[in-house]
Amino acid sequence: MSIFSRFLPKRKPVEIKNNMPKEKENIKKTFGVYCHSHHDTKGDKLCPKCTALLATVMTKMNRCPYGITKPICDRCDRTAICFGAKQAQEFLGIMSGSQKRMFLSHPMMAIKHKLASMGVDYAKYQQAKKIDDKVKAKEAAAKKRAKERKDSK
Ligand SMILES: [Zn+2]
Repeated sequence: MSIFSRFLPKRKPVEIKNNMPKEKENIKKTFGVYCHSHHDTKGDKLCPKCTALLATVMTKMNRCPYGITKPICDRCDRTAICFGAKQAQEFLGIMSGSQKRMFLSHPMMAIKHKLASMGVDYAKYQQAKKIDDKVKAKEAAAKKRAKERKDSK
């Protein structure tokens, strides 16, 4: 603790953001956009198949092991575990297949989703880098030990 620390602004408590409502809203909109263009539906109506899949996604999301701070579903590693392999594939197909249309009909939401997706990429990159650094450090330490052993002979 330095004597200067008391002059620094106090740290704000970490705010826990509830990502759930935004994520649900985004998925609902994306399903709407997809179903309207692929299954010829209109307004709030979705075809029976999309309605069923959407209902599954919504229920499963409530049981997300990450809780309210969850990452976005279409970039999550657990999609197949949460939704089941077949439904995960359909879900991901709808989410990625409607990206362009989402940008046209709900630009703000699409941009925010894109940013969240980039955030996931960045977090994954950081995580991979951390592991990579650890491996490299271990390798370097092993090499050093080997060299020391050689030198001591
Ligand atoms: Zn549909």
